[in-house]
Amino acid sequence: MQLQIEKESFVTNQYHTIIIGAGHNGLVAAAYLAKQGKKVLVLERRSIVGGSMVTESFGENFQADSIHAGGTLRPDIIKDLKLVSHGLHVDSSRQPFISLLPDSNSLILDPNPVKAAESIKKFSERDASRWDEFVRFMDKAAEILDVAYATIMPRLPKNMNLREGYGLLELGLELRLAGRKDMLNFIRALPMSAQELVEEYFESEIIRAAIASVAIHNSTLGPMSAGTGYTLIHNWLNRGGLSHSNVGKAGEITSALANAVKSFGGEIRTDVEVAKIKIENQIAKGVVLANGEEISANRIISSADPKHTLLKLVGAQDLPPEFVWHTQSIKMRGSVAKVHLQVNGNHGIPAGTLCIAPSIKYLEKAYDAAKYGEISEKPYLEVTTSGNVVSIHFQFAPYHLKTGDWRLETKKVEKIAIETLTEYFPNLQSLVSNLKVITPLDLETTYGLTEGDINHGQLQLDQFLFMRPIPGWSNHKTPIDNLYLCGSGVHGGGGVSGASGRNVVKVLK
Ligand SMILES: Cc1cc2nc3c(=O)[nH]c(=O)nc-3n(C[C@H](O)[C@H](O)[C@H](O)COP(=O)(O)OP(=O)(O)OC[C@H]3O[C@@H](n4cnc5c(N)ncnc54)[C@H](O)[C@@H]3O)c2cc1C
Repeated sequence: MQLQIEKESFVTNQYHTIIIGAGHNGLVAAAYLAKQGKKVLVLERRSIVGGSMVTESFGENFQADSIHAGGTLRPDIIKDLKLVSHGLHVDSSRQPFISLLPDSNSLILDPNPVKAAESIKKFSERDASRWDEFVRFMDKAAEILDVAYATIMPRLPKNMNLREGYGLLELGLELRLAGRKDMLNFIRALPMSAQELVEEYFESEIIRAAIASVAIHNSTLGPMSAGTGYTLIHNWLNRGGLSHSNVGKAGEITSALANAVKSFGGEIRTDVEVAKIKIENQIAKGVVLANGEEISANRIISSADPKHTLLKLVGAQDLPPEFVWHTQSIKMRGSVAKVHLQVNGNHGIPAGTLCIAPSIKYLEKAYDAAKYGEISEKPYLEVTTSGNVVSIHFQFAPYHLKTGDWRLETKKVEKIAIETLTEYFPNLQSLVSNLKVITPLDLETTYGLTEGDINHGQLQLDQFLFMRPIPGWSNHKTPIDNLYLCGSGVHGGGGVSGASGRNVVKVLK
């Protein structure tokens, strides 16, 4: 009898689920599980929670959303997890999207369509009359994509079970309910280039380029690349339109999520790096931390990117060769840098999301540099402000440089970013009192993003739906039993909707 009790206590796991990474997806998954009464532990290698959604301090009176300008969590997640009571302020007001032009005759795409049309009229009467129809189509397309992201993709070409088939039915119904015209236009738009898509609506180069910039935001693609129709819809969905929402509040979202996890009884440990996932007979049993500590659990969910999780934390020796090959082939192509400026005085930059994207050719040339492993000399910039901080999103700054080393190239990004923006706001350069540059290498070393890829894998058509993260493994499962994926690199992910964190909970056995 005594022997049997000892045996049972030995095999009892400490936790129902361990979640690797406290980015927003890991926290969403943890909160849902904890809410179900499961014993959950989140392990985060950094000393703060939030992953890519953090507000950090870079000096005295110098706080910024370190790498994310803001976005929207799915409203049902906010409601289910009671995030408002956990400190989230939902701000549905929207600011304009402004395309800066050298002659200060900027295009101002206000959220109010009448005001936006007024500004568009300066460039084309015809385009102004088409604005409403374009926004209507984009909102519809984003709605359909949202349903696709909420649907767990079955593991094609495997046989799907009835539950998975039901999800697909719902998606098909949503497409059908969109009406024949929107359904066809949605399907057509996905493989198109952003250039082709905007040309169907607008004649003015300024307007075409402003919209196309959102299509290439965060991807290593140019506006002439096939599939940037899809990334335009993806980014439209994540922002809720062209401009960012919640600017200056990224950290608030993930703090509210962490509060929710704790309030439901979940645990979060920071400053703990998972070094290995413990596997016995193809079954995940727990994790080994970098400090040697071992923690066991019935299930492991990783919100770290798929390459890091599968190739580093699991290791090729425990995975089928073809699966390893597919994982190695996931395209991670970080080419984003971030420059935060602390300024002393009036910089004159208006509120909103500003872009430097004067023409499609300008954007394509900015991307050309990345193709050849160079930093764009004339980059596509997107700028937001929050108090005394100006945050510049810089594309393209490829992780893989043809020559040079990111430890030495930081100054170059800083110089190009400040000088480019100063052309539009002449006082800016002289007002900078402090700054912080985040390079693709920092995105990897500090934020844990393999090759600095902020979406944990490029969002492109061969890494989409049934093919995300890899073909045949789109339902959060892996060849290791009880090991699941839930970060941005899996279907539903990319962006800050929390969909992949929530979806994984639905597939747990
Ligand atoms: C500069 C930038 C701009 C962006 N702009 C936009 C935008 O405009 N619109 C949009 O929709 N999306 C944008 N994104 C993308 C979006 O922010 C990310 O896709 C999303 O936040 C990722 O969330 P996640 O929870 O999946 O992963 P992450 O936030 O990356 O979290 C993963 C966590 O796992 C931790 N971790 C990794 N390995 C380990 C380990 N071994 N042990 C313990 N912990 C580990 C990491 O430290 C991290 O905290 C942007 C991202 C960046 C970086």
